[in-house]
Amino acid sequence: MDCIETFESELNELRNTFNSGITKQESWRRSQLKALLSLLEEKEDDIFKALQQDLGKHRVESFRDEVGPLIKSVNYALNGLKRWMSSKKADLPIAAFPASAELVPEPLGVALVISSWNFPFGVSLEPLVGAIAAGNTVVLKPSELAPASSSVLANTIHTYLDNKAIKVIQGGPSIGQKLLQQKWDKIFFTGSANVARIVMTAAAVNLTPVTVELGGKCPAIVDSLSSSWDKEIAMKRILSAKFGTCAGQACIAIDHILVEKKFSATLVKLLKASILSMFGENPKETNSIGRIINNNHFSRLRKLLDEPGVKASIVHGGSLDEDALFMEPTLLVDPPLKSGVMIEEIFGPLLPIITVEKIEDSIEIIKSRPRALAIYAFTNNETFKKKLVSETSSGSVIFNDAIIQYVADSLPFGGVGECGFGRYHGKFSFDVFSHEKAVARRSFLIDFWFRYPPWNDKKLQL
Ligand code: NAD
Repeated sequence: MDCIETFESELNELRNTFNSGITKQESWRRSQLKALLSLLEEKEDDIFKALQQDLGKHRVESFRDEVGPLIKSVNYALNGLKRWMSSKKADLPIAAFPASAELVPEPLGVALVISSWNFPFGVSLEPLVGAIAAGNTVVLKPSELAPASSSVLANTIHTYLDNKAIKVIQGGPSIGQKLLQQKWDKIFFTGSANVARIVMTAAAVNLTPVTVELGGKCPAIVDSLSSSWDKEIAMKRILSAKFGTCAGQACIAIDHILVEKKFSATLVKLLKASILSMFGENPKETNSIGRIINNNHFSRLRKLLDEPGVKASIVHGGSLDEDALFMEPTLLVDPPLKSGVMIEEIFGPLLPIITVEKIEDSIEIIKSRPRALAIYAFTNNETFKKKLVSETSSGSVIFNDAIIQYVADSLPFGGVGECGFGRYHGKFSFDVFSHEKAVARRSFLIDFWFRYPPWNDKKLQL
């Protein structure tokens, strides 16, 4: 569905499909999830090609970060579906005896999913899994900035899934705006805080519930790990979560590192050695680092480097090739804390390392900044771990790894504060597209006369 003019009739079709009740049937939900699984398996090559074209992602990275986690999520939903759809018993106060009560999950209705470009399949289809499992009809609007991926989604979804219930509409901000003028029962948005404000303003008109999955600056605290094995693994995980995941263009990528001053020179040495073994002498020639999405983002990143005091802080990398949209993995030590690179979400392969006197100071720095989508800490210090969890607020805290929360069905994925609200993945995706209806059943057997007017003080004394 590419033409917005036909959209109102398409939306009516979605509403009629929802009202027909078909999407509430377990068999329909199951068939759609299975069809999505077939799409992912049969169109894997098209997906890999599109991700290569849009973002220069290697097929292994594309499988690790998009196709693989999606297949896992669909299977998880298929396994849990019956249980998730069933109602849960609830207790009622003794005054209601005899009675029974339950929570009955019901789909919200017609949902709009607007997604970003950096994981164009992941952030489009993960919400779709939840929306389908919960029995909604859906319009998906992928990002125009990943056009090859957007067109694979548009060309495949309508052939695999029920076209009367699930539609893809392609386009940029103007199409997004037109979509937002429609009445929805749920809006699920992944993207920037600025656009989230526009989404929420539009949603307010119809009191539509929204989930907004945004970004931010995710810090990684690196303690002076004692064993050389721990250090080696930590370096691999840090580099993979920065340069090896969409070239750092990920909402949960490590944005910057916090490290004790006395360990910083060693850390830089370790990181440089790991960069060499992961990406070779000439990272541009390797196909293991993705490309910057477009020239606008490339200029944005270059501007971050051009700010006063930032270039001087580069201790590794820094070379750029705009024609190839390539940026070398770049390490910076102590760039000015007031420079853009330490204020904006970096969203690219620049890794500032900020030194602190004591590891505990890193907690104060984190607390003084907007809340993060994720905080990472590489440490074996149990006291510090407890302190970090209890004293900071963030979407998640991960020790000794990064980004794994994205593939953990049992953990809610989502933000707090400026990095968004609402949570999904696993059963949480089902919940975010459902309303839990309270249903109570009473009997006529017992009744209490004092609960009804006419009022008199005798009724209070009981
Ligand atoms: P964006 O806000 O520019 O765009 C997101 C989507 O909104 C796109 O589909 C775009 O076409 C649409 N859009 C843009 N302007 C619109 C408007 N005026 N009205 C309606 N729709 C409009 O964000 P982006 O550049 O695509 O994504 C990058 C941001 O997304 C980063 O901040 C990143 O951290 C965040 N992100 C968050 C998650 C998460 O799960 N928390 C995942 C991926 C990306």
